[in-house]
Amino acid sequence: MKTDIEIAQHVEHTAMKPIDEIAATIDLTPDDLENYGKYKAKLTFDAIQKIKSKPQGKLVLVTSINPTPAGEGKSTVTIGLADALNRIGQKTVIALREPSLGPVMGMKGGATGGGNAQVIPMEDINLHFTGDMHALTTANDTLAALIDNHIQQGNELNIDPRRIQWKRVVDINDRALRQIVIGLGGPTSGMPRQDGFDITVASELMAILCLAEDIHDLKARIAKITVGYTYDRQPVTVGDLKVQGAIAMLLRDAIKPNLVQTLEGTPAFVHGGPFANIAHGCNSILATKMALGLGDVAITEAGFGADLGGEKFMDIASPAIGHTPNATVIVATIRALKYNGGVGVKDLTQENLAALEKGFVNLKKHIENMQRYHVPVVVAINAFSADTTAEIELLEKLCQDLGVTAVNTEVWANGGQGGEPLAKAVAKALQQPADFTPLYDRKDSVENKINAIVKTIYGGRNVEFSAKALRDLKLISANGWNNLAICMAKTQYSLTDDQHILGAPKDFTIHVREIVPKTGSGFLVVLTGNVLTMPGLPKKPAALNMDVDDNGVISGLF
Ligand code: ADP
Repeated sequence: MKTDIEIAQHVEHTAMKPIDEIAATIDLTPDDLENYGKYKAKLTFDAIQKIKSKPQGKLVLVTSINPTPAGEGKSTVTIGLADALNRIGQKTVIALREPSLGPVMGMKGGATGGGNAQVIPMEDINLHFTGDMHALTTANDTLAALIDNHIQQGNELNIDPRRIQWKRVVDINDRALRQIVIGLGGPTSGMPRQDGFDITVASELMAILCLAEDIHDLKARIAKITVGYTYDRQPVTVGDLKVQGAIAMLLRDAIKPNLVQTLEGTPAFVHGGPFANIAHGCNSILATKMALGLGDVAITEAGFGADLGGEKFMDIASPAIGHTPNATVIVATIRALKYNGGVGVKDLTQENLAALEKGFVNLKKHIENMQRYHVPVVVAINAFSADTTAEIELLEKLCQDLGVTAVNTEVWANGGQGGEPLAKAVAKALQQPADFTPLYDRKDSVENKINAIVKTIYGGRNVEFSAKALRDLKLISANGWNNLAICMAKTQYSLTDDQHILGAPKDFTIHVREIVPKTGSGFLVVLTGNVLTMPGLPKKPAALNMDVDDNGVISGLF
């Protein structure tokens, strides 16, 4: 069986079209593009403006059950569904997140789909692409250097070096950089202080890039970032440092959406990729707006499961896009549901109807959660070769009992053709009325908003705030940040804050450890449990299998 990269390379060599040709299928001319080689392009600012004023198509959000080691294949289904919709005559454009290099070297593999449903050129997209990650890293670390320089040069703003929130970033999983001491070497080398690195996609600049409407908005949001506090605990912003212009300048090109194609030639904007725990986990709103302006249908996905990325798409991204979803697709696999039903990874290939029915509670909870937003829901069963007919029929029936269509989807094996039944179900769902209802009112208190998410979406009974979180609530109130959105940082593996509790538990407590205001992004990050913002590499990193030959051909990228 061919690996993802072998399938991608075969198409790249035989059927990949110049990006101008792909752009022409959605009425873009070469003048609308800034080409990055033959197969990648960014849109010009003029094109972005023009597309924003076009009538918008319908929006499909792809989300999933809680991730498991069994694999769900959300990106694969997103890409395959778009190919399938194009096959049945619905002009469809994709908006996807762009991958971070850190996890690529670790164990996750790429984020460009899989099998016969991928975006290409996959090596470029997974590696340096159009340089957005590098621009973000540089912009983030420029700001860090400017903060330390401000302290070095007399500290006019009275910044307390112990209360600096702004960390340095690098797009590598490098656990050794989590906690560091900087400024050693005497008076000419800065003020010694504790610091640390996050991975680039955890930078607030990434979240801001993905929420910004244009450069004006980008700069305004950057100015609002709280970088730390003074000795008398007053917030210090980028605006106080007067460097928002310089930081925005470094992101001038990164803010423009990147256009690529799927294996079947569907246009795909792959742009921005904030974490789905400490940030909102969705591609840039500009990419989604471009897809909406250029397609009759725009398909986008949100990170992790429907409890994290899905909720945040509805309550953070949608208001920023100014368009709520017209349909939601929840991806599930029979394997992952059996895993939720207590089956170990080794035994997932054996038929087990009882475990499937038991684990179905996880999918059921996510269906109910997405229905709560009053948007039609379709379930995509991402087909794996070991699934049996009896298992597929059982899952279809369990969904049917909830009034939801579940469709066996074979895009990994067969590309767009294998997704036609799903595409038809989604096209039908798009005809139904969607009457979007947000989960909370931003003007409500921070405690009430957190409670709404915990009780309605997670199924918990109450929220326990640590002493630190209670102090944070006071600080938030004193600074007038109550009206910001809520961005929950919770394990993606469970509806609770304990990653080992699978299924759909009830009546549990969510423990809030800390609340970090992200005043540039416009949300409060509510930390539950220990969320790592600088991942580490596993014992056998994927890097061990990677190589490039004398002709520059890459292998082992998964
Ligand atoms: P997610 O978006 O949920 O993280 P991806 O779509 O990126 O998942 O897929 C992760 C990996 O699983 C990819 O390497 C892909 O090839 C593989 N995969 C996805 N769907 C299937 C399937 N139906 N059968 C076999 N492998 C699959």
